[in-house]
Amino acid sequence: MAGHQAHQAQQAQQTLHVGGEWREAVSRATREILDPADAKPFAVVAEGDERDADAAVAAARHAFDTGEWPRTPVAERAALLRRVADLLVRDREELGLLESRDAGKTLEEGRIDIDCVADAFRYFADLVVGEGGGRVVDAGSADVHSVVVHEPVGVCALITPWNYPLLQASWKIAPALAAGNTFVVKPSEITPLTTIALMRLLAEAGLPAGVANLVTGPGHTVGARLAEHPDVDLVSFTGGLVSGTKVARAAAESVKKVALELGGKNPNVVFADACATDEDFDTAVDQALNAAFIHSGQVCSAGSRLIVEESVRERFVAELARRAGRIRLGRGTEDGVECGPLVSEGQREKTEAYVASALAEGAVLRAGGRRPEPSAERPATGYFYEPTVLDQCHREMKVVREEVFGPVLTVETFRTEDEAVALANDTEYGLAGAVWTTDAGRARRVAGRLRHGTVWINDFHPYLPQAEWGGFGKSGVGRELGPAGLAEYRETKHVYQNLAPKPVRWFAGRPQ
Ligand code: NAD
Repeated sequence: MAGHQAHQAQQAQQTLHVGGEWREAVSRATREILDPADAKPFAVVAEGDERDADAAVAAARHAFDTGEWPRTPVAERAALLRRVADLLVRDREELGLLESRDAGKTLEEGRIDIDCVADAFRYFADLVVGEGGGRVVDAGSADVHSVVVHEPVGVCALITPWNYPLLQASWKIAPALAAGNTFVVKPSEITPLTTIALMRLLAEAGLPAGVANLVTGPGHTVGARLAEHPDVDLVSFTGGLVSGTKVARAAAESVKKVALELGGKNPNVVFADACATDEDFDTAVDQALNAAFIHSGQVCSAGSRLIVEESVRERFVAELARRAGRIRLGRGTEDGVECGPLVSEGQREKTEAYVASALAEGAVLRAGGRRPEPSAERPATGYFYEPTVLDQCHREMKVVREEVFGPVLTVETFRTEDEAVALANDTEYGLAGAVWTTDAGRARRVAGRLRHGTVWINDFHPYLPQAEWGGFGKSGVGRELGPAGLAEYRETKHVYQNLAPKPVRWFAGRPQ
């Protein structure tokens, strides 16, 4: 028995996937993965470093330069992506549970994440087969055949965050594979488990060895090395602004392609007319709650800034605070729990610091603002924090300007449409925002003026795989999903063929 356990422990540390093989880190270092609901370790993974990153890049480079995948017909690549989607559906329960425990989300959210991952694989499979091969360009001569084609970029480094671990990875992996690239993925060091599991499914679906590589380990070693590595052609990063800026700087040295999906400080603008009937009021409050507190606010597009028309503020905020106080916090796998813990102690302390600074700057606490009492479904050691509503906020406050990435909603008010738009756009970010109104003209006007990559009208949070996702301003560079999300992983090539070559005689020297 002891021998069996030792074998399992050793297997558990072989979480680096390099050239089709499972390995431990060169240093043999490991990391415990904690369940944020009780802070207890429930898995052990290899802790890679720069040497492991180099080995993985070498494997991906070799597979790209000499392997079959970049030259595999599009229909076959798409068929493989569809097989991966089927395997995700087969393993939905297991993967959903893993995501729930690793990231601290409810089991239902974990399952939905896996459905969305499968959708991403299917979407990019459909997109590539539906495209046709290249665009013929009229060169103005019957003797010239000119065509613009798209080819894979090469070796892609894919760096992902901890809030939607597998979903964010799939928005990169699916288009990278659909386009014929090879890659090295580096999941967040605190939530690597489902990405490791995906590597197994890719192999089971028949992906050739070396196309998909994975290195678990910290950002400042593995991530930084991938971003600067001269043999990496593209780096696609999802994470915070500070790390994203470092990635962009490192990538600039070798002029590699860069895609950045960074943070957000997302406005949810509510006009009084959207609260005119009891039913509309209930919907707007319910959605504001969902916008701010789903996954404890650890969502890049969280509606963390409520910007509500002055005339309905008191009623709206009172009801919002009442409902926020009733959100059932607990371990995500417990029945009836609506919201899990924060992902780490660091994330909880960061949240607490933002709330403290807001109160010091004059915000009024309407709900939450503390750690909840422990209970049977909420262990004392878990990283729980109550959904928090801060009223009387203004744009000079740190909590209004910076991304908290925790369950904190700030409330600002406006009197005119112009004022609402100015407030909503007064952020260095520009990822997503919403407007609530029953006036169709105003809805379109305001949506047109919001400087955000996604704008919802009378909704919050939905996204579609076929519609681009990404940000204005410091929310990033480039787009994921949609046709542009595939284009990120391609080079464009113009092939000009002269069907009847003749001398050009630009220079004098004629043959004698
Ligand atoms: P983070 O920036 O700390 O880490 C993200 C990833 O980058 C991790 O894998 C980390 O190890 C790695 N990393 C850190 N430093 C690095 C460096 N110097 N070089 C290379 N890699 C490095 O972010 P996080 O805390 O994991 O995630 C939360 C952030 O992600 C939030 O800001 C959130 O808004 C953002 N996010 C954005 C989107 C989007 O679509 N725009 C989606 C999800 C999350």
